[in-house]
Amino acid sequence: MRDTKDDDKGRKLQAIFNQMPSRVSLVYGYTEGPPSIEDEYEKGVRAKKVVAVFAFSMKGYGFGELTFVTDEDGQTCIDTECSGRKKVKEMLGWLVDHAIIDHETDPEKHKRYNEVRGARCGENCKICYPPEGEP
Ligand SMILES: [Zn+2]
Repeated sequence: MRDTKDDDKGRKLQAIFNQMPSRVSLVYGYTEGPPSIEDEYEKGVRAKKVVAVFAFSMKGYGFGELTFVTDEDGQTCIDTECSGRKKVKEMLGWLVDHAIIDHETDPEKHKRYNEVRGARCGENCKICYPPEGEP
């Protein structure tokens, strides 16, 4: 016999998940034992551990965190909170699809990219320095 209380809870939880917006963002990063720039570039020394944590909510699925940990040998382990490889790819795909990339040509997004990166374009950038006679 089915437990109707659990079925009801499941339906209520699913209704909440169905209303959640899909969203993935990098919320935390940490480097344990980072090498000096010289050791990194000249000797190939890597940090003892690098951690990146992504928070997610996916419409109809739920919410949680993905934790990536890479050791000094380059082995990466991922705590998916039981989401699995396919769902992790979907979440990272969402993040990439919604990110502003370095080749952005929309002026507002280009400006925002530079703000977030703390970068500044050279004078060859046609977006920051439009050629004479163009807006
Ligand atoms: Zn620019």
